[in-house]
Amino acid sequence: STTATATINHVFRSKLPDIPIPNHLPLHTYCFQNLPEFSDRPCLIVGSTGKSYSFSETHLISQKTGAGLSNLGIQKGDVIMILLQNCAEFVFAFMGASLIGAVTTTANPFYTTAEIFKQVKAANAKLIITQSQYVDKLREDPSSADRADQNKYLKLGEDFKVVTIDDPPENCLHFSVLSEANEKELPDVVIDAEDPVALPFSSGTTGLPKGVILTHKSLVTSVAQQVDGENPNLYLKEDDVVLCVLPLFHIFSLNSVLLCSLRAGAGVLLMHKFEIGTLLELIQRYRVSVAAVVPPLVIALAKNPMVAEFDLSSIRVVLSGAAPLGKELEEALKSRVPQAVLGQGYGMTEAGPVLSMCMAFAKEPMPSKSGSCGTVVRNAELKVLDPETGMSLGYNQPGEICIRGSQIMQGYLNDVAATATTIDTEGWLHTGDVGYVDDDNEVFIVDRVKELIKFKGFQVPPAELESLLISHPSIADAAVVPQKDAAAGEVPVAFVVRSDGLELTEEAVKEFIAKQVVFYKRLHKVHFVRAIPKSASGKILRKDLRAKLATATPP
Ligand code: ATP
Ligand code: MG
Repeated sequence: STTATATINHVFRSKLPDIPIPNHLPLHTYCFQNLPEFSDRPCLIVGSTGKSYSFSETHLISQKTGAGLSNLGIQKGDVIMILLQNCAEFVFAFMGASLIGAVTTTANPFYTTAEIFKQVKAANAKLIITQSQYVDKLREDPSSADRADQNKYLKLGEDFKVVTIDDPPENCLHFSVLSEANEKELPDVVIDAEDPVALPFSSGTTGLPKGVILTHKSLVTSVAQQVDGENPNLYLKEDDVVLCVLPLFHIFSLNSVLLCSLRAGAGVLLMHKFEIGTLLELIQRYRVSVAAVVPPLVIALAKNPMVAEFDLSSIRVVLSGAAPLGKELEEALKSRVPQAVLGQGYGMTEAGPVLSMCMAFAKEPMPSKSGSCGTVVRNAELKVLDPETGMSLGYNQPGEICIRGSQIMQGYLNDVAATATTIDTEGWLHTGDVGYVDDDNEVFIVDRVKELIKFKGFQVPPAELESLLISHPSIADAAVVPQKDAAAGEVPVAFVVRSDGLELTEEAVKEFIAKQVVFYKRLHKVHFVRAIPKSASGKILRKDLRAKLATATPP
């Protein structure tokens, strides 16, 4: 009967047992808890210089940096902004801030002045740690044009301090004022597990980036869900070298690469920025064993001919996250690193960020299917909601993924209303992603609810078509978006980047897809372009392509 089904509540759990998680501890205490076991081992390796810091050095410099921040007036609850590419100072500043109960917001140094000031104001950052080349962007608050409102106008040196990791320009301080402070001056602060420690911003793929409040408890829980327990879901070892090329200003890299490695005692190879030749060189030189990647990097590793010239045999794990990775691309990468275990994690800034993780990465690995995003992490609950009825769905039925557990965000920054529509009264975080859980408890993400293309009554997930397009040998990259259509409402159209020197026609691309999909998923138009717009965290910016279609004059 209907009442009987109405009471069924399908909740999916990890195949791994729950474990005790010490999420009463501050993040830094938790991350450095096992340090005596590996204090002399390399913790941070700076790819560009070869300089390395042991775990005990990393801990000490973090303490000094905490004391230095305190000397500059940063107190418990204050916010600092890290505006840096990956470097050792990023780590010292983040951990140093945590040590004094301060909060870090991270931003992309390529942001414009307006974007940076928006975040500085939203987060109320008192100090910015950056590189001298970005300081010019911090000199002129764009709202200074509107001097009538003096409250909104921020001035470098007065309203916020700036510290640079290289030669400090006028009115700025050098990072050594932090890293060479006396660790004995570290203030004694009482930190509550519910105090915020990080204010990451979402990627801004669907709209403006949203500030997310993550507490000590959220991040400790999330890291523990990945690397703690007798059988950790993501098994990192002391002799592992973990590739850190994804930007630490994005939560995927900050959490799953940096914090997880600190906790587990694995070394982190810091790469300033992505460049395929340097990346391959460093993987070979430092014998990288664990590589955290995003789909655009997988495309490079799977398709770039240079890959064949390097020894990648040290890689035992490739963890992809942040955006959909189809099984075609996953299999193409597999042929490049046949010895490695390939799998995905599924994350969302608001979820702390990890919701699910490949079980083949566990210490006692379990099989995992190509294209899956793994199984929900332990000590958490996942459900799939029917968008129409709001009921939770069982196996193999797609709906909106929801997650519950101590790892999720406290809420959005300065946005009670958005928090209330995202986390319901029972504590479930609604992701806005459509997915399903298969018979083996593996999570498959179809696409975002908002990005599904609606062809008549049918739904077309662009990610599925993108994955098929990428598998074509003459296609270097691709994206699919909806185009308004009088008859169908919306039709799928593709933007395609051809591989060098190959003649590929629109008809050939359409036919390639038509052979493989049901009629309503067929492409109605193919635009050849030079590149697909992507965010720094590896996502296709379909909103930019939709805007391009809207403004283009019809052919
Ligand atoms: P914004 O919310 O600002 O529009 P965003 O959602 O891209 O940006 P993030 O929090 O960085 O910002 O990304 C989370 C989203 O990334 C998820 O909601 C999901 O759509 C996507 N995602 C993450 N991992 C995967 C994965 N393995 N497979 C498919 N999609 C993924
Ligand atoms: Mg989002």
